[in-house]
Amino acid sequence: MKRGRAAFAGVALALLSACGPGMTPGSDITLAIVNAHVWTGNPAQPWASGIAVSGEKISKVGSSAEIAKMLQGAPNARVIDAKGGMVTPGFIDSHVHFISGGFRLSSVQLRDARTPAEFISLIKAYAATVPAGAWITGGDWNHQNWGGELPRRDWIDSVTPHNPVWVSRLDGHMALANSAALTAAGVTASTADVDGGTIVRDAAGNPTVVCKDNAEDIVDRVEPSPPAELNDRALDAAMHYVAERGVTSVHNMGTFGDLAIFERAHRDGRLVTRIYAVTPISEWERLRDTVSARGKGDEWLRIGGIKGFVDGSLGSHTAAMFAPFSDSPRDSGFFVNTLDDLYRWTRGADGAGLQVIVHAIGDRAINSQLDIFERVERENGARDRRFRIEHAQHLLPADIPRFSQLGVIASMQPYHAIDDGRWAETVIGPTRAKTTYAFRSLLDAKAKLAFGSDWFVAPPTPLEGIYAAVTRRTLDDTHPAGWVPEQKISVEEALRAYTIDAAYASFDEGIKGSLERGKLADIVLIDRDITRVPPETIRDAKILMTVVGGRIVFENR
Ligand SMILES: [Zn+2]
Repeated sequence: MKRGRAAFAGVALALLSACGPGMTPGSDITLAIVNAHVWTGNPAQPWASGIAVSGEKISKVGSSAEIAKMLQGAPNARVIDAKGGMVTPGFIDSHVHFISGGFRLSSVQLRDARTPAEFISLIKAYAATVPAGAWITGGDWNHQNWGGELPRRDWIDSVTPHNPVWVSRLDGHMALANSAALTAAGVTASTADVDGGTIVRDAAGNPTVVCKDNAEDIVDRVEPSPPAELNDRALDAAMHYVAERGVTSVHNMGTFGDLAIFERAHRDGRLVTRIYAVTPISEWERLRDTVSARGKGDEWLRIGGIKGFVDGSLGSHTAAMFAPFSDSPRDSGFFVNTLDDLYRWTRGADGAGLQVIVHAIGDRAINSQLDIFERVERENGARDRRFRIEHAQHLLPADIPRFSQLGVIASMQPYHAIDDGRWAETVIGPTRAKTTYAFRSLLDAKAKLAFGSDWFVAPPTPLEGIYAAVTRRTLDDTHPAGWVPEQKISVEEALRAYTIDAAYASFDEGIKGSLERGKLADIVLIDRDITRVPPETIRDAKILMTVVGGRIVFENR
């Protein structure tokens, strides 16, 4: 990075001093966009109408007239007339499961199954397209679509005689196996449940079988890992899919296996998405050793973050709450790791200079992890550590100010709010709903918000996320004025959470996340200025072009 920057400073100097021998002002411009509403994310120059790129970096943000003047010396620059469209910094998705998402692009799609019959016929149709013996995975089903009955293996056994099936609920906290997958895993009626997980059984005790949370390991551990070639294909599919949505960087919540796939792509020059590759907290020592051997990477592929889990999800009733669920009075969820383990991992990883990122959804889970962060900060001393809580869905009102007090980033997924908002109130009741997906309260309390999608769990589409944060209109359109409307935020606040503040969440705000001279040329062109349209139409806006490092990686004009 340092060397790249120094080289760029030389270029900028040449631009400014304009005209050494053979050097015309602007002659190094490779790409320019004019006649645009440029939202920069830079408070010193919030709006402009033109932008120029030289190689990988932004060389000028200014008026269209200024850019046009510079272009006179650059006959070979590609010049785009935005015709009043909007330019923003490339979107940063702060929470994805990128390889899983890539696999799902080419695997069975159950998200839209509205009935058990549809669920079965989708699996049957897909099974006909794969070779015998291949595992059928992915899925993203949602039993709430048909009233909440959990799927059973006897629904699908007869349509999948030749393939093990292991398909997940869309939040990843439950999965359905067919009999072939169960046989492969050695699961029988006598198989016991595991800590932090359940196997669903019929009245006779036979697995039916949906495994919840930690019980998923029983099948996961026998699922063969796909060959490298298929992993590479999944990554390429994922990168192009998000580029179509204006995403130029992702924070991947994944594994060392994912990291190896990213490293191979980086080596081969195939990366078109910048990746912050977060690895599991339980293996923090391995990451510490990797960082000390090789550093934290470059602007394409960065490491240094580790992620752990406190609890599960609301939809599976596995979020850890202080009070029971409103629709299940004896159940208040559970922790999937002990607080003692979480404390030891947090303290060790933080002491090694790693960024600690923790999934916490229920109010009790969030409260417990904030306590751990507070204690570790006291014990390890002051530093720029940027702890993160992923999801941060259901907050105790008293915990809201603690995010800014402790410098903890709330990494949230606004699309979940309009998805869960259809049914969440039956699970948590009206009082807890007031501080659920509490974007407004967190911003008012000066917390930093980093937005993302949680893809494969939700679509990796920032314009949908912005729409969700700004309107809070649930997917079923039963809340036209917004679900818990007092938690809405503005378009510009949502944009910040998808750009400069998401860059901050990976320590990258110095090189990307806003449109400023010298920063990486990660840029999106949208067909309309989404700050000036009725909020309910934001999701109709189209991405016209996505630029990463000065290179056009998606274009639809
Ligand atoms: Zn996730």
